[in-house]
Parts: sequence; structure tokens; C-alpha cells
Amino acid sequence: MAVHLVNPSHISFGTAVITPRWLYVIAAATPPDFGAPIIVDETLDPVDLGRILPGDIVGIGIHTGNALRGYEIGVEARRRGAWVVFGGIHATLFPEEAHERGSAHTVVKGDGDVVWARALQDCREARPERVYEGGRVGADRFLPARWDLLPANRYMWASVQTVRGCPKHCSFCSVWRTDGQEPRQRSVDAVVREVVELRRLGFRFIALADDNFYPVTLEDLEMAARKSDHHRLQELQELREERFDLMARLAKLPDDLVFFTQITMEAAEDPAFLDAMSRAHIRGALVGVESVTEAGLKDVYKGFNLYGDALVTRLQAFKRHGIHVLGSFIFGLPSDRAETFDATVALAERADVTFAQFVMLTPFPGTVDFAKWEKDMASEGATIDGIPITRHWLIPQERRPKVYTPHPTLSADEIRAGTQAVWDRFYSLPQIWARSRVVKSLRARVAFLLVSKLYRQMYANTGIATDSARTARSTRWARWLARPCRRLFVTAPMPHLQVPTS
Ligand code: SF4
Repeated sequence: MAVHLVNPSHISFGTAVITPRWLYVIAAATPPDFGAPIIVDETLDPVDLGRILPGDIVGIGIHTGNALRGYEIGVEARRRGAWVVFGGIHATLFPEEAHERGSAHTVVKGDGDVVWARALQDCREARPERVYEGGRVGADRFLPARWDLLPANRYMWASVQTVRGCPKHCSFCSVWRTDGQEPRQRSVDAVVREVVELRRLGFRFIALADDNFYPVTLEDLEMAARKSDHHRLQELQELREERFDLMARLAKLPDDLVFFTQITMEAAEDPAFLDAMSRAHIRGALVGVESVTEAGLKDVYKGFNLYGDALVTRLQAFKRHGIHVLGSFIFGLPSDRAETFDATVALAERADVTFAQFVMLTPFPGTVDFAKWEKDMASEGATIDGIPITRHWLIPQERRPKVYTPHPTLSADEIRAGTQAVWDRFYSLPQIWARSRVVKSLRARVAFLLVSKLYRQMYANTGIATDSARTARSTRWARWLARPCRRLFVTAPMPHLQVPTS
């Protein structure tokens, strides 16, 4: 009886950018008497169903974007006599759907770190419960991933988690509702040990796969002080100090390490934090800019962001501290107008962001936006191939609309075409070449160009394009580019690297 862990994807690139961390954490949560799980990441290669035998246990982790593919695999695995277990954010939100559409025997809701072992044991004894409540486990119970199971030469970046949860409440995001608003920070020792293990294997680039690396802002501290809330103030100060302790330890690691994280823009107001990030080899951060207008920020409950010149100054502050910004922008907000597309890309250029992503507003389950949209759409009863539009992830990929939210002034096609045009402009060859000045040597500039093109092929063309020929072409390009790109990221292993002491 084997345990299979499957990360579903309807597109495989042969080489992937970031290791899907959950696969290796759940592998660590698998008791030794079940043997080492067979790990399948379909962003690399499609699952080989022939390896699934009667009595095996197949764990499938899904988010909304890959739920439909996950259900196909679940149905097929159950048909072959395996026990089928779903987990992940989407299964947590829609456990019944995983039973109905994915032939689940059981669903693990919430964090799998602890409850996974019980689900496995019950499947082995042929008496799985319908649902297991994993809840939110404390940071001291987060498991280090089983990196010894990683296939050789397939990933560019490794991933390590340092904190779960985010205190914000952006309307388009489900993180604060699923992972909670109270940050759960892993111990510094646990994080550093994992990073050292990855550097020993030859990974130089490591994504800190956190919801928000900056969970306590200066304003949070000031507010607690103003309210004379001493208990809260102390809690926040401790959380902040732990961040600094972590960064001080990361700073002791080899200089060739490069970390990338996700952070809110308020960190730009905190030079001590940015300096510590820089010393800790954190060279890049995804910053959710979302909108360049005040009205757009109100649309997404992100009043803590700035707009206009103040936004440019904030974004530039990261770069002054040696931290490159991947700016994330959303199109299709109610306040967007035809001129928003040009204004956004112009601001991204003026703010000198190194990379950018431009996404179309999509109501994802678990978000405030989704709840409102689902209610608004209920009266319309719109369907595609008999599937309600409010269950858009169940519509076959090629038939799925690109824009869901009716917009007061722009048509769906205008939003899609405008978004595509912005990607085209930001990632045009002359623009990329100009931005590649951030690195020095010609070799590094060529590497920058390749990586920019790869990013664009993987994330823009495959997601926005309406015509299947363009999607297929992009996938081929991405497969072709990904392999040489990987070599640019990895380096010689350091098997004898020691864990630095505090
Ligand atoms: S978008 Fe970022 S800042 Fe907003 S709630 Fe989600 S994780 Fe937190």
C-alpha cells in the first residue's frame, strides 16, 4: 500500500519555478510505517495513473485554480480502488464538492500537519471519517519539509515558510480568513535549519512562502501605545523582535543565498526593517500594489496603501535598500477606467519596479468579494455548459470566462485586452533590457532577460489568452526556456554547511 501526494495542474512545464512546499510538508507528516510517499507535481509532469494501485492512498491538495484537475484525478484514483483524500484551501472551503466531484473518501480541512496521520491510519483501517478538522495548528507544530524526497534538477527555487496568517483583511484575498489574522511565526532555529538543508543541496534561491513577512507595522505599535494597551503592545513587540532575530540569523548564512518574500507596502516606512532584510539576503519582495488610484484601493479595502507620487516613493524605498520589487496590480476594479491600464504601467515604470504582474479581478471563494459577488449573481442564474457561473472553477478550462465581475464602464473584453496589452508593454524586449541594468555583467543581464520572458510566458500568456493556439505556444516557450533558466539559479551543493548559532 503506497501513499501518493499529488499537486494537480492542467499544464506541465517539465521544470518548475518554486517547489510546492505543501507536498513535502505532508510527506513529513506521513508516519514512517507508511513508507516514503510517492510525490507527483503536475507542474512538472502529468500523473502516471498506472502507478496507483488498489488500496493505495492518494492525497490531492487543491486551491481554486486547480480544483477541477484535482477532481479528475480523484475520480480516476477511486476508480482504480485507491483511497482518495482531498486537502488544501479549496477543499477546506468546499468539502462536499470534493466528495461529489472528486470522489473523495474524506477531506482534510485546515492545516494538515497534525491530522494527516490520523486520516491515513483510518484509510488503512477502511473507516475514514467524512471530514477531518485540521484547524490552525500552533507554529511550534509546523513541520519541516522532507527535502530528501525532492527530485533532482527540476526546480529553480526552494521554499521555506516562516509565518502563517496575515492581520490585514483585503477584500480579494482569502488568506486572513483561512490562515487567520493572528501571525503564527515559526521558531528561528526551525527556519534556519531548513534553509541550511536546502543550501547544502545546492539551492541558492529560496522563496519565504509566507502570507505576509511583515506582520507588525510601526503603526500597529503606535496604535497599541496610544491606546495604552500594554499587553497587546508587548505581544506585538515580541513578534517584531522575533522577525529581527530571524533576519540576524539569516544574515550569517553564505552570501550567495537570495531570498524572496511577500510583504505589505508599509514596510517601506520602516528603514530598520528594510536594512535587516537586506543584511539577511532578502533581495526581492512581492508587494501588493493592487491599484494606483485612491478609489481603486478603497474598492479592495486596502486603504493602508498609498497612490500617486507617495506610492512611487514608497516602492522606490525598497530598491534603495537593495530589495527588488515584484509589483502586483489588479485590473477590473469598479473604479477602473480605460485610462487605468496606461496609468498603471506608467507608474510601475516610474517606480522602477523590477518585475510586475497584472491580474484580472477574480472572485475567489473564501474572500469578501466572492461572498458579495455570489449574492449579486444569484438572481441572474447565469450558467456555462450547465455550471453556474458562481462555481466558475468547475467550468472546463477552455470554456472558462476570463472576467467575471460586471463592470460599470468596461466590457469583459476591454479588461482582458487591456491587461494583455499591459503585460506586452511591461515585458517588451527594450523595457526588459532597460530594467536589466539592475545587474552588472552581460551574462547576468541576459539571465535577467530570460527570466523575465519566462515569467511572462508562464503567468501571462497561459492565463489571459483566449485562443488555445496562443496558450499552447506559450507553454512550449516556457518549457523551452525553463530548463536553461534553472541552471542560472542553482549552484554547487555545500554538503558540509553548518547551522549558524545565534
Ligand atoms: S492580500 Fe496580502 S496583505 Fe492583504 S490580506 Fe492577503 S496576505 Fe494579507
